[in-house]
Amino acid sequence: MPGLFKQCPLCKKEWSSEDEFLQDRSLLINGYQFAGRGTTPPFPDGYLLFTHGVEGCGTTLAVYAKAFKEVKRNKNIQHLLAPI
Ligand SMILES: [Zn+2]
Repeated sequence: MPGLFKQCPLCKKEWSSEDEFLQDRSLLINGYQFAGRGTTPPFPDGYLLFTHGVEGCGTTLAVYAKAFKEVKRNKNIQHLLAPI
């Protein structure tokens, strides 16, 4: 059974893996949203925001930052994502 990495809340497109998601040129990263106070930096506890730039959609998707392997293992990225 194929996995599901993320589904667009508006147009219901599904991405079955992180790689497929990151390779989709219709997704534009547009920000980072810190999930809340009380967590310990530098480990990110927030969401990366993407715009689904296809005709008829254009909604914003929030993906938990820790869902990305590169964020999990890369301390430099974690620092960039830490709350100010
Ligand atoms: Zn969409």
